[in-house]
Amino acid sequence: MSEGDIQHKYIVEVKEGKSIRISDTGKRELKELGMMDDKGKLKIKGLSAKMLSRMKKEYVECPVLSKDVNFIECYVCSNFISRLRGQVYCKGEPLAVNAST
Ligand code: SF4
Repeated sequence: MSEGDIQHKYIVEVKEGKSIRISDTGKRELKELGMMDDKGKLKIKGLSAKMLSRMKKEYVECPVLSKDVNFIECYVCSNFISRLRGQVYCKGEPLAVNAST
């Protein structure tokens, strides 16, 4: 794989077995991206319901926010570069946790 395009700062392992609640900020982002409907149901193009329900049970120990983050939320995070063999390539830039706009 070529790593030259976007510099990653962290490689974060995707873990399973904990359903971490998606934060309100994450939900808002998902809705804005058209990946979640008003009822909170996830709809991501190209991903089957089965894959989505599996992804919902995955999480990362986010090094930027210093907490466990649902993989779906990580997937739409501005730091997300790609996921490769169970690992997230993360830009590692500071995130505005409480940004409300
Ligand atoms: S992409 Fe975002 S949520 Fe995922 S590990 Fe990096 S900072 Fe955390």
